[in-house]
Amino acid sequence: MGIIRELPEQLANRIAAGEVVERPASVVKELVENAIDAGATKVDVDLQEAGIHLIKVRDNGHGFHEEDAARAFLRHATSKIRDEHDLFRIRTLGFRGEALASIASVSHVSLKSKRADEDGFEMKLEGGVVKATNPTATNVGTEIAVSQLFFNTPARLKYLKTSATELASITDTLNRLALSHPEIRFTVFHEEKELLRTNGNGDLKQVMLAIYGRQVAAQIVTASSKTNDYTLSAHLVRPEVTRSNKQYVTLILNGRSIKNFALTQSVLEGYHTLLPIGRYPIAVLEVKMDPMLIDVNVHPTKREVRLSKEKELCQLIRETVQLTLREQRLIPSVKQEP
Ligand code: ADP
Ligand code: MG
Repeated sequence: MGIIRELPEQLANRIAAGEVVERPASVVKELVENAIDAGATKVDVDLQEAGIHLIKVRDNGHGFHEEDAARAFLRHATSKIRDEHDLFRIRTLGFRGEALASIASVSHVSLKSKRADEDGFEMKLEGGVVKATNPTATNVGTEIAVSQLFFNTPARLKYLKTSATELASITDTLNRLALSHPEIRFTVFHEEKELLRTNGNGDLKQVMLAIYGRQVAAQIVTASSKTNDYTLSAHLVRPEVTRSNKQYVTLILNGRSIKNFALTQSVLEGYHTLLPIGRYPIAVLEVKMDPMLIDVNVHPTKREVRLSKEKELCQLIRETVQLTLREQRLIPSVKQEP
């Protein structure tokens, strides 16, 4: 008799969760991206114990149909793509249909949702298993509360860093999401302390002000440029203000904050001698392009992407940064901040 079996769905989900849900910040990222994909103009995040105890994300997006709710927690279940052609023109942040299944498999989840033309409902899950669904009065939109994260994966729970480190990672994640979507009003609270508030008026500079403060915001210069394939909008902080690592160079491709060594390097080359050795700039670069040119299906978290014309974009970035800063006739000063 053969010895190979298909794993039960819950177990398969829990294994897959290892890739998508590494830490509390991953949950925050997935929930907020879903809110953005649902067309939200307002997203509120509440955290307790650096997200380990509670992560609650509330949006005013289109909400769930009650009949879809249980299906949304199945693996590879999504409303965002239908067939293989869609894979080449992804306009949403999600499309893999993995996040809710993965998150739910390693936590307790409460989902409250309401569509404009339907009644509200609440669904509770534990370890991915639906425990109850009830009608409830709620506003149009969705609220997902994730508690007891990693309750059934003790190794993962143990591997988490200190609360301060996890919270820093969540903050970084939310800052990137807010920078990618200045048109969305974000509020973020950690145990009653406000971590972030943006006004959602679409002005990226004001998001930078909310995140980096007045001193930095006063030093922003903005430039735009384009090629046949790419439209770039660069918000560069003058090199009077620098940081000790590259984390403050934010790259946003079609509304998604990504990590890309070559593009970051191009920003640094653009600043070049204006930066003191070992210091890095604060900058946000927004790039718009045909989704055909970008492959986001490289890694489950979609932070890394492949570009078909990366060199062209690198050159555009390098030249735009260089030219803009040169036009400003900048004289680097030695004033440095942490
Ligand atoms: P994906 O985002 O890749 O489609 P998810 O597991 O994150 O997969 O979500 C599954 C589905 O649940 C989504 O395709 C969407 O239809 C629905 N969904 C998730 N979050 C929300 C939300 N905040 N508002 C409305 N629908 C949502
Ligand atoms: Mg998603």
